[in-house]
Amino acid sequence: MRTILKFGGTSVATKAALDALVRIVAEVSGERAVVVSATAGTTDALVSAAEIARNGDGPGAERIARELEAKHRALVVDLFGRDELPAAMEAVRELSAITERTIELLHSVALLHELTARTRDAILSYGERVCAPVVAALLSARGVPATAVSAATVIATDGQFGNANPRLEETRTQALAVLAPLLVKGTVPVVTGFIGATGDGVITTLGRGASDYTAGILAAVLDADQCLIYTDVSGVMSADPRTVKDARPLPMLSYAEMAELAYFGAKILHPRAVLPALEKRIPVRILNTFAPADHGTTISGSAVLDGSVVKATTSLGGLGLVTVQGVGMSGVPGFAARVFDTCAAENVSVLMISQSSSENSICLVVPEDASGRLRTALELMFRAELQRHDVERVSVEAPVAIVAAVGEGMRGAPGVAGRVFGALGRAGVNVMAIAQGSSELNISLVVAERDRDGAVLAIHGEFHSGSDRPA
Ligand code: ADP
Ligand code: ASP
Ligand code: MG
Repeated sequence: MRTILKFGGTSVATKAALDALVRIVAEVSGERAVVVSATAGTTDALVSAAEIARNGDGPGAERIARELEAKHRALVVDLFGRDELPAAMEAVRELSAITERTIELLHSVALLHELTARTRDAILSYGERVCAPVVAALLSARGVPATAVSAATVIATDGQFGNANPRLEETRTQALAVLAPLLVKGTVPVVTGFIGATGDGVITTLGRGASDYTAGILAAVLDADQCLIYTDVSGVMSADPRTVKDARPLPMLSYAEMAELAYFGAKILHPRAVLPALEKRIPVRILNTFAPADHGTTISGSAVLDGSVVKATTSLGGLGLVTVQGVGMSGVPGFAARVFDTCAAENVSVLMISQSSSENSICLVVPEDASGRLRTALELMFRAELQRHDVERVSVEAPVAIVAAVGEGMRGAPGVAGRVFGALGRAGVNVMAIAQGSSELNISLVVAERDRDGAVLAIHGEFHSGSDRPA
């Protein structure tokens, strides 16, 4: 039996959490590999240190790095006490060395007033790189032999800094060379989540929140029997518990449902995390470090029909709605292709598309900070059509949010859209655009950012307090 266990930011940030982590890892039998995130808040602090350095404030950036160093030192003292401290010496040495190196990087960014994506990744990798040695030292001191492993030696990626893509074959070779021997001799590798390295050994990151993805990748390349994601809630819930107080835990989800939820903003799991496990049909469970006996959520290959229609409602904010509109667009072949070519040329990722059936408008939902740039590029692309009034205008509405209702039970169930829009109407929420995937697994709609929480509450209330609520 081979198990990959991943612990998120809050699960590695305090003595109580790490004591729980040790108990959880010790109780799993067979071969185990652990993936850790940076401690809660660390990556966000590194993001601001990098920004501050870019603005030329080297001392300000250094201050943040020193605070992070102090925070980790305090954690080590808390964990090991004065008596056991020698067991953590190696981790403390690493902490100092990585801090100094990061401070050097921050100062060079400040000097140049330039932050490349590559340097940013090197700075952001700090959090996981200082965490893994602490967790490995703690496990070893508590009788579970463990060793810290930098994912730079395991996860091979392309050079797309900030959002690197894993190269699975090379990763498999490296995982078999670096991790498998440890697993076989019963040593737990504690691998840094979130990061990888290019073929030249340059550190990359896999995207914010991507330690989950690291766990999924390792589960796949190591042919694990299960992948356990430990976080600070008891599994995936019917909505973000911070917004919806009566959100319920969902015992089972299909890979497809989880992927839709994650894609549309359910922060609990990174959107790409389920893909590697899906291909290998490895069961993924989401569990609570602070309540490990809770059932949590099992994500499995088959559709799970539990009698519910909409299983969960989620939202994603910070977006812009770009609309290309005009009566002269109908029936013109290649029009949409030119819109998407423009998105590709501008390197803008499109999260949702919706076209009116009269073909009079195409709506694109993109990150808010890219929406102005995309409008300018589209105006340039369609300047002739704009002059002829075939295209009336290219407009941007921002900030907007996508709200998505997800559930396998929606497939073929009549009247779901009607209930969604009825609930939104009663709540006074104006819907700006709608899309339904052909899989019929989700209805997603665009609302103004200020209506985001209201829309989630309205849809959740409609489907989770009514009669179709599963027992
Ligand atoms: P970790 O650091 O363990 O990866 P994250 O903060 O990334 O933890 O994800 C867990 C958080 O996701 C929860 O604390 C919760 O607030 C949030 N969340 C958002 N949507 C959901 C949902 N549908 N179900 C459960 N949690 C959710
Ligand atoms: N530490 C990284 C982040 O905050 C990765 C993760 O937590 O999964 O984005
Ligand atoms: Mg996370």
